[in-house]
Amino acid sequence: MLFDIHIHSNISPCSSLKLDDIINKAKKTGLDGICITDHESMEAKTLICEGMQKNGLYVIIGMEYSTPDGDFLIFGINNNIPLNLTAEKLLIWVKKAKGAAIAAHPFRKVRPVKEYTIKSKLCNIVESINGRNTSIENSRINIWRKKYNFTECGGSDAHTLQEIGKVKTRFFTDIRSSEDLVYALNNGLCRPEEK
Ligand SMILES: [Zn+2]
Ligand SMILES: [Zn+2]
Repeated sequence: MLFDIHIHSNISPCSSLKLDDIINKAKKTGLDGICITDHESMEAKTLICEGMQKNGLYVIIGMEYSTPDGDFLIFGINNNIPLNLTAEKLLIWVKKAKGAAIAAHPFRKVRPVKEYTIKSKLCNIVESINGRNTSIENSRINIWRKKYNFTECGGSDAHTLQEIGKVKTRFFTDIRSSEDLVYALNNGLCRPEEK
């Protein structure tokens, strides 16, 4: 199944995308599903039901969580997650909650992810292709590939309709729920894909 696992709705101050428009566009693009990952918010959970939508698209709601040591896409967690955690505390929290955490756009010039989070194995899933990174920024993932073992995935980081599905993740299992997504990510059953 093909998912764009990194999309911002207008719940994020930097995006004006309506959830309905995202869902329609994603289906037209040929995606099987999407993840809504607003900045520090899972408010989308109060607006739509997770799972299959009327048009057949699967929607899973996570969050993009910013820390001083990088941004992380987190899934399978509830609304009680404390904000302003350090990367280390966040990653431990997510693990305890049996969720999944992805190092977002690790080599972006602005807001990269600190290497210790991968080296220490606190985080072992990396968004190795991000739709808003330059190709040079994305190619730097090779530095980590030579040193560490981690699961790779990709997301568009869409803030506009045209960006949806530009980068996606192919899953080798069916993803119909947040639990399915967390299982696939934590067991390495995926790979990033570009158009
Ligand atoms: Zn944003
Ligand atoms: Zn983002």
